[in-house]
Order: sequence, then C-alpha cells, then structure tokens
Amino acid sequence: METTLIILKPDAVQRGLMGRIITRFEDKGLQIVGCKLMQISQDLAAQHYKDHASKPFYPGLVRFMTSSPVLVMAVRGIGAVAICRGMMGATFGSKAAAGTIRGDFGVSNSFNLIHGSDGPEAATREIGLFFKAGEVLDFNRAGECWIYDSSSGKAE
Ligand code: UDP
Ligand code: MG
Repeated sequence: METTLIILKPDAVQRGLMGRIITRFEDKGLQIVGCKLMQISQDLAAQHYKDHASKPFYPGLVRFMTSSPVLVMAVRGIGAVAICRGMMGATFGSKAAAGTIRGDFGVSNSFNLIHGSDGPEAATREIGLFFKAGEVLDFNRAGECWIYDSSSGKAE
C-alpha cells in the first residue's frame, strides 16, 4: 500500500469543487486516510515547493498556495501515487486531457486545482510536512474485499 499527499488548492476550495474531487478518489477505490482544511504558511509553502525555488513561477506559486485555505488529504491504495497523478492530469489546465481533474474543472496553467506527490519518496516527505503523528489513520474499510482481488493471497 502506498499513501500519497493530495492538496486541493485554493481555487478548488473557493470554487466549491472539494466534494466533486474527493468523490473521484473515493469512486476509484482509493482510501482517504487523512484530511484537513488549513491555511498554508509561507514557511510550509517554501518547504513543500523547495525544488521549485529557482523557477520563475515560484513567487506566484507561493502567493497562490498561501492566499486562501486548502484541503490536504492523505490518499492510500496500491500504486496510489501514480494513480492519483493520472487522475489529476497534466500540469497545465489548458493541456490536461478531458476525464482528468485538471482537464475537466479548469483552464488555467497556474490555478490548476490540485497537487499530488510525484513519487513515493516525495509522498513520504510531503505527508510528514502536512500531517502530524496520529493524523493519518490506519483503518479497515468494510468493502475492502470488493476493491482488491485477494484470492491469490496478495491484494491486486
Ligand atoms: N506552475 C506554474 N507555472 C509553470 C509550472 C508550474 O504556475 O510553468 C505551478 C502549478 O500550480 C504547478 C506547480 O507550480 O502545479 C508545481 O509545478 P510542477 O511542475 O511540480 O507541476 P505538478 O507536479 O503540480 O503537475
Ligand atoms: Mg510537482
């Protein structure tokens, strides 16, 4: 099982799209194991986007991410990092394919609704930035046996 960090960015929260986006992850069979509405501080935005610090879009990105509350989620499933990236679509709303979150809900390249960790190591680092110990929960879902085929002894 993999757990990835998803952030519904200020535009998604302000536009009232939280429920529709969360529903997509739940419909897919992914499990929400952590969730909170929060305002990102300058310091947290800088840590989260440290790899982009030298990019021309960085100042605007930090301004955007700290401008209004976001919803952060820890989302779990087998291969959750790549599955979530696929569901998000390409970075730019103008380029993202129809059927993806960015492709269906937005047209902007910077206000692109959602963040998702880009690999398992990034996911671990980012979950550590946004969630304190005990805020990401381990719990069994009643319908888990219909989400994954475990007949071979290994969930797939
Ligand atoms: N971004 C931007 N202009 C760019 C590239 C990125 O405003 O030319 C913003 C956009 O909000 C994006 C974020 O910076 O989601 C992080 O960029 P990254 O390349 O990591 O894209 P992502 O992983 O979010 O698809
Ligand atoms: Mg990225």
